[in-house]
Amino acid sequence: AANERESMYLVNEYAKEYFKKIMLETNQGQAIGLSYFKERGFTAETIEKFDLGYSPDEWEAFTKTALDKGYQLEFLDKTGLTIVKEAEGDKPKRTFDRFKGRVMFPIHSMSGRVLGFGGRILTSDKKAAKYLNSPESEVYHKSKVLYGIYHAKQAIAKEDNCYLVEGYTDVIQFYQSGIENTVASSGTALTPEQIRLINRLTKNITVLFDGDTAGMRASLRGIDLILEQGLNVRICTFPDGEDPDSFAKSNTEEDLKEYLTENAQDFIRFKASLLVAEAKDDPVKKAGLIRDMVASIAKIPDTIKQEVYVKECSAIMDISEVVLFSTLAQLNAKES
Ligand code: ATP
Ligand code: MN
Ligand code: MN
Ligand code: MN
Repeated sequence: AANERESMYLVNEYAKEYFKKIMLETNQGQAIGLSYFKERGFTAETIEKFDLGYSPDEWEAFTKTALDKGYQLEFLDKTGLTIVKEAEGDKPKRTFDRFKGRVMFPIHSMSGRVLGFGGRILTSDKKAAKYLNSPESEVYHKSKVLYGIYHAKQAIAKEDNCYLVEGYTDVIQFYQSGIENTVASSGTALTPEQIRLINRLTKNITVLFDGDTAGMRASLRGIDLILEQGLNVRICTFPDGEDPDSFAKSNTEEDLKEYLTENAQDFIRFKASLLVAEAKDDPVKKAGLIRDMVASIAKIPDTIKQEVYVKECSAIMDISEVVLFSTLAQLNAKES
């Protein structure tokens, strides 16, 4: 219900302010949270811009304060900020904060409302998840949000391009480095709804993969979803062990921009070259990869573009245009 969602937004907004206040105004928050972000190279201005905060390392500090302020447990529970354990046997009902001792990244909607949070752990406890996110709820549907979209939307339209990265800190570090048109899928596979958010603002996406991205082939498959929506896709990778955040942090703004300009290449060309390198001289493998390649081209709605790409792939993969066109025709027939 609309009323219920409104109450959840109010709780999230309060939590955002709470985590910020804890980080900026308490000793623990400054010593642990704020210094962590400073170490990552984020300025005070950036921290304020993205509403970054810190959740105290206590069991129910947030929940207690929120209840004191008059927020209802029902909505603390529904947003996932509080975990409610119902009474069982002789154990009374108990409540816990979901986020505890983590630096907090509020996740904003296109219009700037707080939908949920990502929280990063600061210890190197191998058992705990590095990032913890708000659970799915009436207001937070992770398949429909892109981290950073609120701060990036104007620049995406202005630059007529959107950089798509993997993580929260990539978005923030890029923004601070003057590349404001950046959003993240936050570790999940890209969805059609997420692509539609970008599609409203630009027809051009540049996908930036972490240097360590496992299973590049699998990630590339997700990109067919972008082609399907008629967007132009470019790809840029980073050196081993680097991601957009670490690369931006250790390079000047000018060098970063130059790197992106020089290394971003058209997706179809990128994929064709990658597959050629992978297949080497194995003909069976090569046949499979050609089908994979043509499957991507078949996703492009514009048939003129399809033709241009077939010609290019023919050259890159050293296979006749005739064969590629007939494979494409078969796939096009299946699609319609
Ligand atoms: P950092 O630089 O802080 O280590 P990162 O953003 O580079 O973080 P990656 O391991 O590259 O982290 O993961 C990319 C994104 O995937 C993260 O920003 C986060 O949104 C999501 N993610 C990573 N690990 C987890 C996890 N254990 N649970 C949920 N989401 C995760
Ligand atoms: Mn990664
Ligand atoms: Mn990363
Ligand atoms: Mn990183």
